[in-house]
Amino acid sequence: WAKAEGRGRWAVYDPERGARDIARSALAAGLPAALERGEFVVHYQPIVSLLDSTMVAVEALVRWQHPELGLLGPDAFIGLAEETGLIVQLGRWVLDRACRDARGWLTEFPDARLVVSVNLAARQADDPAIVATVAEVLSSSGLPADLLQLELTESAVMGTAGEPLRSLHRLSDLGVRLAIDDFGTGYSNLAYLRRLPIHSLKLAGPFVEGIRADGPDSPAGHRDERIVDALVRLAHAVELWVTAEAVETAAQAELLRALRCDTGQGRFFGPPAPADEITARLRGEP
Ligand code: C2E
Ligand code: MG
Ligand code: MG
Ligand code: MG
Repeated sequence: WAKAEGRGRWAVYDPERGARDIARSALAAGLPAALERGEFVVHYQPIVSLLDSTMVAVEALVRWQHPELGLLGPDAFIGLAEETGLIVQLGRWVLDRACRDARGWLTEFPDARLVVSVNLAARQADDPAIVATVAEVLSSSGLPADLLQLELTESAVMGTAGEPLRSLHRLSDLGVRLAIDDFGTGYSNLAYLRRLPIHSLKLAGPFVEGIRADGPDSPAGHRDERIVDALVRLAHAVELWVTAEAVETAAQAELLRALRCDTGQGRFFGPPAPADEITARLRGEP
């Protein structure tokens, strides 16, 4: 939030914030050693077809098994990794782990052709080496490019021009799928997105949360349903797939299917879980 305050403003001394800053710096300072010691783990969350409930993809979500603080979610450290630049190495590690796991699933369950979807930070997308990195990871893992999807946020791709824009096209040319994450929380400029080699939109949680929140007859629920309906139609008109995020109830899943969303992700279909739980699910174990 330092940036949000703007330059040239006087910050009021706040002892609590001082303590928070020290804790943040300590966590940030520990990131490179944590990567070396292998303290990061990748969990996977199912992305399910709303038509027939089959698991078509999984999203790779990084966690930090911290020796003192326990299992930390990405919200606790991804921002720090972006600020310090370590996100480039950490992101590469996640990409490599995810592609190796997906290659294993392809070998054991060839018919499932499970896609792995990996989050790409803005700094990674802007890295001139990103195309070479992705190509190397695909070739060393043996994962076919069309089984990898990269998720970028709207803010990471808005205004993309020059080299970063060429990178997106070259990634798409490799056969990698590109998705816009948390769609609807930023500029939501579909006209602009149409010029990017994007394959799918991930509809942000708040829209999904809003539909039928207070029952089918609530005015707020109706409004969000109409927004989702319009977004799905618009996305399909420009040949984009739509994934609904944060699906928590059967009623939401049912309505999203009626609104022609293609896939869904959220606690209703399964929480993020270690790789072996995805393997068990592919085996058809309960
Ligand atoms: P995201 O990419 O939008 O990931 C979806 C988040 O929604 C995950 O949080 C997931 O656990 C959470 N979620 C799952 N089911 C539900 C549900 O039913 N309801 C709600 N409200 N939320 C649900 P998580 O794992 O804490 O990740 C948070 C964010 O951290 C991700 O948001 C992504 O932006 C970032 N992130 C995670 N892994 C990586 C990574 O490897 N690299 C980068 N750059 N960012 C990552
Ligand atoms: Mg979280
Ligand atoms: Mg994501
Ligand atoms: Mg998301």
